[in-house]
Amino acid sequence: MSEAAAIELRPMLIGGDWVESANGESIEVENPGRRSAIARVPRGAAEDVDRAVAAAAAALPGWRRLAARERGRMLLDIAAAIEERADELGRLIATETGNALRTQARPEAGLAADIFRYFGGLAGEIKGECLPLGENLLSYSRREPLGVVGAIIPWNAPVGLGAMKIAPALCTGNTLVLKAAEDAPLGVLMIAEICQRFLPPSVLNVLTGYGEEAGAALSRHPAVRKLSFTGSTEVGKLIMREASERLVPVSLELGGKSPSIVYPDVGCEDWVVDGIGMAMRFTRQSQSCTAGSRLFLHEDIFDAFLDRLVERTSSIRIGDPLDEATDMGAIINRTQFDKVCGYVEEGLGRSDARLVMGGLPPASGPLSEGYYAVPTVFADASNDWRMSREEIFGPVLVAIRWNDEAEVIRMANDTHYGLAAFVWSRDVTRALRAAHAVEAGWVQVNQGIGQILGQSYGGVKQSGIGRECSLEGMLDSFTARKSVTVNLGIPDAPAS
Ligand code: ADP
Repeated sequence: MSEAAAIELRPMLIGGDWVESANGESIEVENPGRRSAIARVPRGAAEDVDRAVAAAAAALPGWRRLAARERGRMLLDIAAAIEERADELGRLIATETGNALRTQARPEAGLAADIFRYFGGLAGEIKGECLPLGENLLSYSRREPLGVVGAIIPWNAPVGLGAMKIAPALCTGNTLVLKAAEDAPLGVLMIAEICQRFLPPSVLNVLTGYGEEAGAALSRHPAVRKLSFTGSTEVGKLIMREASERLVPVSLELGGKSPSIVYPDVGCEDWVVDGIGMAMRFTRQSQSCTAGSRLFLHEDIFDAFLDRLVERTSSIRIGDPLDEATDMGAIINRTQFDKVCGYVEEGLGRSDARLVMGGLPPASGPLSEGYYAVPTVFADASNDWRMSREEIFGPVLVAIRWNDEAEVIRMANDTHYGLAAFVWSRDVTRALRAAHAVEAGWVQVNQGIGQILGQSYGGVKQSGIGRECSLEGMLDSFTARKSVTVNLGIPDAPAS
């Protein structure tokens, strides 16, 4: 048997059945920590998309008619079932994404359960309003599902982001065709398998395949009534273009190049230095759209702060994602790894930036066996070179000096992105002034944590459109408001 044939094929879910792609082709999934193939998944394409959308459309009438609390109950059952298998799921996520089990992958499995629980609990809140339009008018609104939703997700937090599409879309009575990312489909397929135990067939369909094939076919499918996309700004624009052809609503959660603005009054205190590392998402290899990757340090603390950052960041343990001692795992794939190295190489070659820590990944030793990048910081960078402007999606931080508040806000906003921002100061007035002035969908003051359920999360500018993580986000993204107006003033029926 050839090696390729020995690698197990994990089928995708269409119409309640676990299937291969119509063309029989498959894609290999790699463990980026070892650069070895771990499974194959179907290479879904247009024909598979057609089948999945047809199945979702056929399931829609029955699903949307169910009382919302019934749907909510199923989501709660799914949450409990995910929790039971959280350890297995965490290991699978770590193996396919390279994200460290202890710091990232296991918490992501727990988050997926929380997401289903959160939206399951919200099912009773899908309600409309009664409008006081007049004594003889009964006017009320309903929140109705949009129909078949097409959702496309990336690989960086595949299970969390998959849950973030499935739970609100189904809770509100839509049916769903979800395309997993080609680099990390296995955890999503496991979530699909769990969901399938509780949901009627065809309500959830999960496709695997490449973006240009399965993703593009889904985004242009005429029966898809809503597109929900998380990924790069570049592909987000393609999705929006497709949506504009049919005027279907879109939610886009896209890239970022988020600023961290540090005022001098916080000095080099550990909580700030550690907060900057967390905001930068070093333990996710900085493969996060909210990574605070532009560090604006006040000149009074610039050098001392960086010294402390180097000290604290040097203790991050990089290595095998499945090792409990590992803080930071591997970059997702060869392409991303080469891209990150390209930015570092460029930085090393520039005279207007100084390498403070990190650099190119080791060329020998255990870390050279996977796509391991190391936390890297360049200081005295200008805000207008490539490394300060483009989303690297790797652990490369640029530190930029400032001394004037208006100027630092101008630099922070000098980007086409507007996803997250972080402000660090003990002076609340000053911190909030900056928080209000910065162009971002989400500003954190004095912390750099990840998204919280219940908070409407999303970007402005080219970081996205729409919000999905909250009750309002779910209602706005996955329902249409219908008004029903009844004339109560009609004359009595004529006597017969
Ligand atoms: P990333 O850089 O995080 O991989 P992408 O935006 O390239 O982000 O990918 C996110 C998701 O979008 C993946 O599921 C990918 O397969 C899909 N995708 C990529 N290209 C297209 C496309 N042209 N049409 C639809 N989906 C796409």
